[in-house]
Amino acid sequence: MKALLLIDIQNGFCPGGNLPVPEGDQVVQVANRLIDSGKYDLIVASQDWHPAGHGSFASAHPGKKVFEMGTLSGKPQMMWPDHCVQNTEDARFHPGLHLDAVDFIQQKGQNPAVDSYSAFRDNDQAALTGLAAYLRGKGISELDLCGLATDYCVKFSAIDAVEMLPGVTVRFIEDASRGIDPAGVKAAIEEMRTRGIVTIDSRDALA
Ligand SMILES: [Zn+2]
Repeated sequence: MKALLLIDIQNGFCPGGNLPVPEGDQVVQVANRLIDSGKYDLIVASQDWHPAGHGSFASAHPGKKVFEMGTLSGKPQMMWPDHCVQNTEDARFHPGLHLDAVDFIQQKGQNPAVDSYSAFRDNDQAALTGLAAYLRGKGISELDLCGLATDYCVKFSAIDAVEMLPGVTVRFIEDASRGIDPAGVKAAIEEMRTRGIVTIDSRDALA
């Protein structure tokens, strides 16, 4: 049983969105090729889904600027621009994404007091989203993941997948992903490698 996990391919993370990842929209075509390939038994998409005023937003911290470090519930937290607020255009999936073929959508980031980069659990690792249980229930043995952004939500999701789904082979599809910061992307790929996550490109996935 082979699953594809598409991380946060939402308007907010594409050019024109509130937290745009450079070339973020360019993952859509590649993701669609993967979705339409018939190679996957199960396709899951995660969706960043914050209430207005979420604690990861700089705007919720008077005096803080975006992209500087602050604290949230006593832990270091990157101060993000307001993004992916529930029921806004920014939170919708990219309109070009073949969403009809997605079997399950995992929302995350609803708790205003903690951020949730991973599709599997909050950053403090206290609350699970339920995705690991869902995938275990489906009996998956292989998980390929990709999306936005490589150096945050993709990386944390991949690492949690390895930790929370023992025995499942986890692969990161590089050309179906984009990151915020080039140095961060390089470090993320290296960190994933040390955790046993193989980096491939979509040609490998489709072969
Ligand atoms: Zn977010």
